[in-house]
Parts: sequence; structure tokens; C-alpha cells
Amino acid sequence: MSELAINGGKPLRKKSFAAWPIYDKKEERALLRVLKSRSWGGYPSPNTEASAFAAEFAEFQGSPHAILCANGTLTLKLALLAGGVGYADEVIVPALTFVATAGACVDVNAIPVFCDIDPDTYCIDATKIEALITKKTKAIIPVHLACSMADMDAVMEIAKKHSLLVIEDCAHAHGTRWEDQGAGCIGDFGSFSFQSSKLMTSGEGGAITCKTIEHRDRLLSLLNCGRKDPPHDKFEGRVFGHNLRISEFQAAVLRCQLSRFEKQIEKTRKNREKFVKKLVKSGVPGLRPLDVDERVTRLGAYQFILRFDSRAWDGLHRDKFVDALNAEGIPCDGDFYRSLQTHELFPLDTRTNPLRDIDPKYDPRKWKTPASDHAGDAESVWFSHTFFLDGEKDVADIVLAIAKVYEHRAELLASKSEA
Ligand SMILES: *Cc1c(COP(=O)(O)O)cnc(C)c1O
Repeated sequence: MSELAINGGKPLRKKSFAAWPIYDKKEERALLRVLKSRSWGGYPSPNTEASAFAAEFAEFQGSPHAILCANGTLTLKLALLAGGVGYADEVIVPALTFVATAGACVDVNAIPVFCDIDPDTYCIDATKIEALITKKTKAIIPVHLACSMADMDAVMEIAKKHSLLVIEDCAHAHGTRWEDQGAGCIGDFGSFSFQSSKLMTSGEGGAITCKTIEHRDRLLSLLNCGRKDPPHDKFEGRVFGHNLRISEFQAAVLRCQLSRFEKQIEKTRKNREKFVKKLVKSGVPGLRPLDVDERVTRLGAYQFILRFDSRAWDGLHRDKFVDALNAEGIPCDGDFYRSLQTHELFPLDTRTNPLRDIDPKYDPRKWKTPASDHAGDAESVWFSHTFFLDGEKDVADIVLAIAKVYEHRAELLASKSEA
């Protein structure tokens, strides 16, 4: 084998992976249909394409209602608002997630409380939730991260016992099912993103699933400038809203994306299985996928995570492995997410973040989250879900590149660290 590309050798792969996002004539026709209709915006709300997609998406996930929105950050904020979470309330979130999960809490002047993750699934560790509950706790936001799902049985049991709201962050979990119930349909709300990198996309966009008509109507009002239009006005009082409507172009594209989605997840599932088999067969140690709970009956699977064990690589750091694999033509990421307490937004500056005003003693670093820290700093290796959209050659190349880096690991161990 040639020497490592990171040291000037020949990269194992030059070809890029499957093009993303996926589209075909269907999207082209849908976009023209909206263009010619001259009804481009989200008003009247929900507009024609938006109503149609909301109904189709609700049915697909198995929710009585789906409400479309500008993106998957504001969906979290609106779910908190519709659920009555606000000033100085505490919301339990996993430490390892995208900043929006905690950011949405800050946005409604609530306090994100960071819970550690389960090291086997990278989702919130339900056994650690109760110790974080105080009189001020109002909600839990489990995140169904990458290829796994939070233990929703345990989360719902705790929520019921303490009368807490549950908002599932499903930005990674379109199509994913827990005991045949769709992600986002178990808690009070589910929050979905259709941003460019997500499994189903219109460039930007979001959806909220919910169970009650009151929640649905509040959400529809919140995203439509606070209007209280019949027949979507069956809630008490009025709300200050914003224009967070989705456009008809986005909704029309999403209808096409949904129509091919089941085939897409079936194909990526098969390719992921082939990849894991090949990786095991290669004999390279110290790389394991996340565990999938047997109660997960279908996986949408955003991205793909391998857990890197540096002990099996003679002490090599994850970041050096990631750099070497990138150089071989296999793009991957180490610290895609890190524990949010260490994010530069936390601890807080009152000029950018109101939490110190609400609680002068607020210091997110008081919550210890060792599993989350380890995952972000040393263990996780993130691959794009697009690696699993094409065929066997792609997954074979990833395994060959990993094996090549493993075989030549001594070269990486010898190279000076940048620190
Ligand atoms: C992408 C993402 C969001 C935010 O979605 P946007 O549509 O980009 O605003 C929220 N939570 C998680 C876990 C995400 O991955």
C-alpha cells in the first residue's frame, strides 16, 4: 500500500460521493407549478402546497397534526411558547446536540439544563434526568441524534411523573420510529428541520408535530403574525407572533422529497449494514457504530457515527485519524458536536445572553457530562449520510481508507502534534 495521503501519498479516493440534495423532474415540475400559480408565499396561512405537505408529512410520521415553519430552530422556540414555557423556567436538554436545542430555550428566556448522554446511543441518558429536575423544571427536549433515538419510554415515564412537557428534537429523525410510533409523535411536540443537510430538504424549512388542537392553533397563530383566523382559533387569548411561514416553493419541493423518502431510507439502511459488515471483516479494531435500541423499528438515520477508541490505535488521537481519513478522500468530522457547556456562548455574557440576568449564579459548567465530553472531544467520527446513497463501491472505499490509515498509524503517531 502507498503511504498516507496526509504525508504526501496518493489519496485512496478522488471521486466525490453522491450529489446532495436529491432532485429530479418531479421537483422541476413542482417548482414550475408554483411559479405559474403566482401564489408563492405562505399567506393565506397555511397556503395550498403547505397545507398539502403538512397533511402528507403528518400522516407519514403518524401525527394528528403537522405545522410548517421557517426552519428547525424556530420550531423548537414555537413549541416551547405553545407549551407555555417561558421566563426562568428550566428545560432539560442533552449536552451533546446542535446549539439550537439549547438556544431555543434561551430565546424564550428559559434556562437550558444540560444532561449527560448515554455513551451507547449518544442521546439523553434518561437515568440522569431526574437528578436535574427542580421546582422550576417545565420541559425536556430529547434529541434523536444521528442514527439513534432517545429512550422515549423512560423519558415519557419521567415526564408523566413530574408533569413535564416533552419536545422531541427530530431534526435528524425524519421517518424514524420507536415501537412503530413516529419520532415526534410520542412527546407533546416534535420539531423537524428541512435545512439543506437534513434527510428531507427544501433548503430551509421546519415542521412541528403535535397532539392537540389547542397546540396546533397556537402554533399556527405564532407563526402567522399572531393572527387568530377561523377555523384555527380554538385557543384562549392571543399571542404575539412573527411571520415564520414557509413558502409555497419550499412546500412543493418537500412534497417531492417525501414521495421518494421511504426508498431513500431503505437504500441507506442496506448500505450502512454492508459498510458495518465490511468494517468488521477488515479486522480494523477500535471503531464501533452507535448501538441501536431494539425498540427503534425504523431509522431515518441522519449522518453516521463511528466511535473511535484510541487505545486500539496505540493511543492515536481521534483528530489525527479524522485528518488522515479526510486526506484519503473520505470527508468526515470529529467534533461535529461538543458538549454545549463548553460552547463559547456559555458561560454567559449578559450582552449576548439573558440568562445571567435571570439567574446571576447560572454557570452551565456546574453540570458534569463526562460521556458527552468524551464523545465530542475524543470519540465521535461523523460521516455524511450521502455516503450511503449510492452503491457498494462507496462503502468499500471508506473501509479501504480506514484500513490503510490503520496500517500506517505509526506514521501518524510519529508526527508532531500541532499543540
Ligand atoms: C439542524 C438542527 C436544528 C435546527 O434546524 P435549522 O432548520 O437548521 O434551524 C435543531 N436541532 C438539531 C439537532 C439539528 O441538527
